[in-house]
Amino acid sequence: MYHQYVTDISSITTLSLDLRRKLAAQGWQVGRPEIVKAFQSADGTERYLVHCSGPKPETVETVWMPEGDDGEAGDTTDEEPASGTKSWRRATICVSSQVGCAVNCQFCLTAKLGLQRNLTAGEIAGQVVAVLDRHSVRVGRDRVNLVFMGMGEPFLNYENFMAAVRLLVREVGLSPQRMTVSTSGIVPGIERFTEEPNDVRPKLAISLNAPNDDVRAEIMPINRKWPIAAVIDAVRPIRLRPHERITFEYVLLGGVTDQLEHARELARLVRRSGLPAKVNLIAWNPGPSIPYSTPNPETAERFRRTLAGEGIHAFIRQPRGRDIFAACGQLKRTIEA
Ligand code: SAH
Ligand code: SF4
Repeated sequence: MYHQYVTDISSITTLSLDLRRKLAAQGWQVGRPEIVKAFQSADGTERYLVHCSGPKPETVETVWMPEGDDGEAGDTTDEEPASGTKSWRRATICVSSQVGCAVNCQFCLTAKLGLQRNLTAGEIAGQVVAVLDRHSVRVGRDRVNLVFMGMGEPFLNYENFMAAVRLLVREVGLSPQRMTVSTSGIVPGIERFTEEPNDVRPKLAISLNAPNDDVRAEIMPINRKWPIAAVIDAVRPIRLRPHERITFEYVLLGGVTDQLEHARELARLVRRSGLPAKVNLIAWNPGPSIPYSTPNPETAERFRRTLAGEGIHAFIRQPRGRDIFAACGQLKRTIEA
């Protein structure tokens, strides 16, 4: 299931024909989430609606970005030559952890769905396997990064999320150093995460999105429960690998978080945290009935330069697949509306 990407019992050739027949007769099935719709962007990005059966059938979205690591590539630079005849040398898969989300960030489309349900570990890992299969990825030869940045808050589905990571590491063979999990700042989840052994711990990204508690509480109500200082304190015990950094994600909202004073305040905040960190800037992806605006590229670049001038490593994440509704949660929202 995890290496050969089989989807039915009859093709598991490592089992005897007799056993395969018996299992099939008894009604056993290889259950895997199924890609039911695919949308292709001009930039090579593909977004999928993935069907998850189970007690409450639902669809989630999963994204394939050839060449697109969105600043989340391994911390060491290790470019490899293209393998075989593939058109991509490396790719990133963006994975969902819940159907919808309960966190209610004001700028996020997934929030509008509310939380429908948690995904199981099999459904989280299965999204990845379905996409690997679709692109005939050979784990170990092809370079694949995972980002747990799709729908949902992974640290509010902690057990299933980490069980999925263990499956992906131990069964599929992917490296946790090529995985990044993003959290809105769920402190109990972060505390547990810092205790995970490094052989199954993805890298950590924190959705900071604002330079102070006032602005953050306005756009992320969760900040009233766990303010910035509590989040940073929870991260502190993490045992980083050599060269590993914490990523702070920062969505640029026109006029709200993209001003020069915000950049300077953010630089101070990151410096004072004392954490080895980098900042990923994301220009806000618009969505229907969300009252924010997207800064123009010059504003984003000025923001980045200001951070860099203050000694903070900062990157602008290029929007991927905007023509097929790139923003988090946007695809499912658009299709089902
Ligand atoms: N729930 C987790 C992971 C999924 S969201 C989290 O919030 O971290 C992944 C990233 O997308 C977060 O950094 C979030 O701030 C950002 N994001 C959400 N909506 C967005 C939008 N409309 N435009 C740009 N980035 C967005
Ligand atoms: Fe949930 Fe993340 Fe969207 Fe916030 S940004 S509502 S935590 S998915």
